[in-house]
Amino acid sequence: MQKKELKQMENILLNKKNILLREVEERFKKYRDANNGKLTDIAEIASSVLNGDLEMLVAVEDVRELKQIEDALARIRAGHYGVCEQCGQPIKKARLKAIPFATLCVSCKEEEEREYYNEKTTQVKYEWEENMGSSETSELDDIDKRKLGNKIMEFEYDDNKN
Ligand SMILES: [Zn+2]
Repeated sequence: MQKKELKQMENILLNKKNILLREVEERFKKYRDANNGKLTDIAEIASSVLNGDLEMLVAVEDVRELKQIEDALARIRAGHYGVCEQCGQPIKKARLKAIPFATLCVSCKEEEEREYYNEKTTQVKYEWEENMGSSETSELDDIDKRKLGNKIMEFEYDDNKN
């Protein structure tokens, strides 16, 4: 990538960074106001994230993107921006324009997603087999419960007779 283009990407990244920073700041401020300024430490923020607070979840996403932007800026400074971390080939400019903090070229990204998908399918299959196994035993349990129920009914019947 030429110096001029690098400078361009750096500006795009810095712009994005500033917008995100403002956004994150706004969100935290709004959140703090909504909680009467009680939100002061990271533990409270973490617990609201764990409780699924949407505002916080979005803020966390923003922070994650900020980190990716920071990394991309560091790569520009280190002189290996726009090179695929996996195969070492240059990442296409169109891709970098779309995702300025991309670390993988298109084919490596696809490969990664395929692997992720395969992992997921194997996991689902495993869970399915596990559930099938346990459903068989729970079926047996139901039969035992039915038998037990009949026994109780027989007992009650006998009781009434006496
Ligand atoms: Zn690659």
